[in-house]
Amino acid sequence: MNKLPCSLNRVTSARIPTEEGEFRLCLYSNECDSKEHLALVMGEVSGKQNVLVRVHSECFTGDVLGSRRCDCGEQLARAIALIAEAGAGVLVYLRQEGRGIGLFNKLLAYNLQDSGLDTVDANLALGHEADERDYTIAAGILQDLGVKSVRLLTNNLLKVEALLQLGIPVAERVPLQTRANPDNVLYLQTKARRMNHLLNLNMLDLPPRNGHRPVGHS
Ligand SMILES: [Zn+2]
Repeated sequence: MNKLPCSLNRVTSARIPTEEGEFRLCLYSNECDSKEHLALVMGEVSGKQNVLVRVHSECFTGDVLGSRRCDCGEQLARAIALIAEAGAGVLVYLRQEGRGIGLFNKLLAYNLQDSGLDTVDANLALGHEADERDYTIAAGILQDLGVKSVRLLTNNLLKVEALLQLGIPVAERVPLQTRANPDNVLYLQTKARRMNHLLNLNMLDLPPRNGHRPVGHS
C-alpha cells in the first residue's frame, strides 16, 4: 500500500466478547487527526487474502441511538454479524462523524433536511462537500493488521475506489443491503442517485413520513 502521510500506531487492544462472538478491539493513535480510530477484529487476519472487511464511519445517532434517519446502525450490526458468521474479519471504525462534517454540522444538516433539502444539498448549504470522508487511516489500519486483500462490505463504489487508490487490494465488493423505513427512504434514495451507492431501489419504494411519495425512480 501507499505510504501513510502521518504516523499511525496500534497503542493497545483488548478482548471484547459480544453476542455475535469474541472480537479484539484495537485502538490506534495517529498524527493526522489525533482521533482514536478503532479496528474490531475477529479471528486470524494477518497474512490472509480475501478478508471480510467493513470500513465504517462513526455515526453517533445511528450507531448508538439507533436513529432511523440513516442506515448506519443497521449496517454496523449487520457487518459485525457477517464477520462473525465468516469466523474472521475486520470492522474498521473511523471517527469521522456525519460523512466527515462532525456531529454539530450533521445536526444542522438534519434541520435543513427537515425543511426540504436532501442530504447532499444540506451539506452543500452548510459550506461542506457532500462527502468529506477520508479512508487513508483505514488503509493504514488494514496494513498494520497484515491484511493482504479484502472483500469489502459496502454499497459505496467511491469507498472501493478510495481503498484501491490507497493501495488496498479489493478482491470483491459484498453488498450490505439494509431495510428502508419512512424516515430514511429519501436519504437512501439520495445516496443511490447522487452518491453512487448501489442500493436496491425496489426495497426503497416506501412513502416518506410526510405522506408525499418520493420522486419517481429514474
Ligand atoms: Zn448515520
